[in-house]
Amino acid sequence: MAMNRIQFQAGLSMPAFFKDYGTEEQCEQALEAVRWPAGFRCPRCEGAAHYVLRDGNRKVFQCRGCRHQASLIAGTLFQGTKLPLTTWFLAIYLISQVKTGLSALALKRQLGVSYPTAWLVHHKLMQAMADRERRYLLVGNVQVDDAYLGGERSGGKAGRGSENKVPFIAAVSLTTTTHERYDQSFRSDRTRFATHRRSATRGAMKK
Ligand SMILES: [Zn+2]
Repeated sequence: MAMNRIQFQAGLSMPAFFKDYGTEEQCEQALEAVRWPAGFRCPRCEGAAHYVLRDGNRKVFQCRGCRHQASLIAGTLFQGTKLPLTTWFLAIYLISQVKTGLSALALKRQLGVSYPTAWLVHHKLMQAMADRERRYLLVGNVQVDDAYLGGERSGGKAGRGSENKVPFIAAVSLTTTTHERYDQSFRSDRTRFATHRRSATRGAMKK
């Protein structure tokens, strides 16, 4: 079978995922690096000196200066959860690996949790993704066009009817202040979503 560059794009394999995020400690380190890229800072006094404590299975940072305690998961998507971070990370991985979305029921089976738990995880992750995308709301002069990705395989129908191509809708907003525009690409089934910034000086969208 001929290769289709879209279908065979590189991603994180399951063994690679478990190697990097298979233990609670690895997930904690990953979350800590995202929250405090330059190391812990006390949210109250900005101090860097701290002790690391444990509250049950949760990592807690206590400021040496003002003794304020900050849980690693407080203020994050995982706040208040009793689930291990490994379960959350696996859910994020699984959802990111499928083109057509993953139901709460499928998540229940794959994570080995109850349906209400799977539903909550699913709901929170979908909400977080929606919140993230909302930041890229297009405003001002918005231009929309349809386009196709792929078509690497030979044979089959040509043009828009080709089964080798993935249709998507691309939208750009042109701003007058920064001369930058956000370029958003939606797959037509709205399950895949990619955003990237593009300089307004670059060429027109390729079809
Ligand atoms: Zn402090």
